[in-house]
Amino acid sequence: MTTSAAIGSEPTKSNSPVRMIPCFDPATRTKLGEVPVVSPAELRERVARARAAQQAWRETSFAERRRVLGYILDHLLEHADELAATVVRDAGKTRENAMVGEVWPVCEKIRNTIARGEEHLRAEKMSAGLFLHKKAEVHYQPLGVIGVIAPWNYPLQNILGPTIPALFAGNAVLIKPSEHVAWSSARFQRIFDDALDRAGMPRELVQVVDGYAETGAALVAAADKIIFTGSMANGRRIIETSAATLTPVILELGGKDAFIVCDDADIERAAHAAMAGIFIAAGQNCLAAERFIVMDGAYDAFVSRVVELTKELRQGPPLGDKRVDVGAMTTPMQLEIVEKLVADAVAKGARVLAGGHRNHPELGDFFAPTILADVPKDAAILEEETFGPVMVIIRAQGEDDAVRIANSTQYGLSATVMTKSASRARRLVDRIVAGGTSVNDFGFTYMAMDLPFGGVRGSGFGRLNGREGIRACTNPKAVLYDRFPFGAPAKIYPVGTFDYDIARETIRTIYSRGVVNRVGALGRLAKAALFAVRGGD
Ligand code: NAD
Repeated sequence: MTTSAAIGSEPTKSNSPVRMIPCFDPATRTKLGEVPVVSPAELRERVARARAAQQAWRETSFAERRRVLGYILDHLLEHADELAATVVRDAGKTRENAMVGEVWPVCEKIRNTIARGEEHLRAEKMSAGLFLHKKAEVHYQPLGVIGVIAPWNYPLQNILGPTIPALFAGNAVLIKPSEHVAWSSARFQRIFDDALDRAGMPRELVQVVDGYAETGAALVAAADKIIFTGSMANGRRIIETSAATLTPVILELGGKDAFIVCDDADIERAAHAAMAGIFIAAGQNCLAAERFIVMDGAYDAFVSRVVELTKELRQGPPLGDKRVDVGAMTTPMQLEIVEKLVADAVAKGARVLAGGHRNHPELGDFFAPTILADVPKDAAILEEETFGPVMVIIRAQGEDDAVRIANSTQYGLSATVMTKSASRARRLVDRIVAGGTSVNDFGFTYMAMDLPFGGVRGSGFGRLNGREGIRACTNPKAVLYDRFPFGAPAKIYPVGTFDYDIARETIRTIYSRGVVNRVGALGRLAKAALFAVRGGD
């Protein structure tokens, strides 16, 4: 594997030995290789080079930026199989998830940005309010260098998702991928190098910088804005680091998403959406449906159908001879977290309806697709993010109860509602506290790229995707121009005897409620103005 340090720019000369990140395939525990760590000192140099390259990039037209995105898209399409295989090997996910959950959303994001990016970023005319002699505009200017700090669950998508709008908005981008998928992220540098070479742009504009938390922290201090995707605990650390430099941050954190099955839901549809909701990427999905809140009337039918479907799932190394539905846990730590949360729930009285244990331990880091019912209120799995293939089913007595349970965690990323009633869907959507909600399908809000994506509460703040996401990569600069080629000076000095009265009565003339009040104020204003003119003030 080519290392990222060798791509785009030369590593810093140093006498200290370069630290290496060991990389493993979690589905087979095969060692894949090692990737060098970019030290904080080298990172700062990389940022400086990116900053220099950005000076010319910020002046490029939208057409030139679209050309670069087009080349990135070409690379993705041409190398789709290789990129998917790289991700499968590094993250242990299925080939289908790599294609549908990584390559596809990134292609859609590029298509969307090419189609809509300019519309969102071109100077926008606004009302100048009181200043009838002025023209008002917002200019969406690039910020400089945007740092993308990414987790391991979607190695390709977590990197390209934020990079595409950031680059299109005229920024340089430094990407710090998760150390747990450094092997594949090192390959991704070639996507950008290839596109930038073809466009005749410097490679320094997009650089992958591998490393651990220390490298990420150095990026927070050096960049002009950070788009962080990761855990709540590290989101807090990012804020702590950013406080010193006042680096603005977007935080895309974890979730404990609710999936509400109403008693009028189409059970077959709900069951299949549920399977996608929790078993895609073995549940290592920020949007994973971690809590299935099922109303009484649908409970038995829903539970028996998902148990049936779950017991049919095949699990194993995704690149082996057999077709598999569910892959591995990407990190051994995550496997331990899932195992611990399930054991805690079971010890406290939860019923295991499927799975509940490690799978194929002789091969790799697998946790069997699991269903838990009757989970007691004090089980940690009801509050802490599981990030694993565990369907937790909770019974609800009706709409109010379902909403109460849905909103009862510290998170608020996304949610799903299954119902045949449009009015009920609307009611529930209104009452669920989350950054997004899908009705009658799982997770489609993410693929509708005009929609903003992000969370509330412990799931973070700021948005990726859509107009909000691309504008988040800019400084929305407020500008007022002259409307006419002539104008008088707006003189406030020296302060005149009647200036205060004139100001007060002007305010009353504009803002008083009722015509009588306004006319009265206008009269007093005229009087004060007259005195001012007479008095020479
Ligand atoms: P993590 O927080 O452990 O790591 C994320 C990234 O932050 C990694 O690159 C890591 O090296 C870096 N990092 C860690 N400490 C840092 C520090 N002090 N300063 C700077 N950088 C630091 O997250 P993870 O375990 O890789 O990913 C799983 C988490 O990500 C889950 O909570 C999941 O829900 C969340 N996630 C959220 C979204 C979303 O869009 N909301 C998407 C995917 C994953």
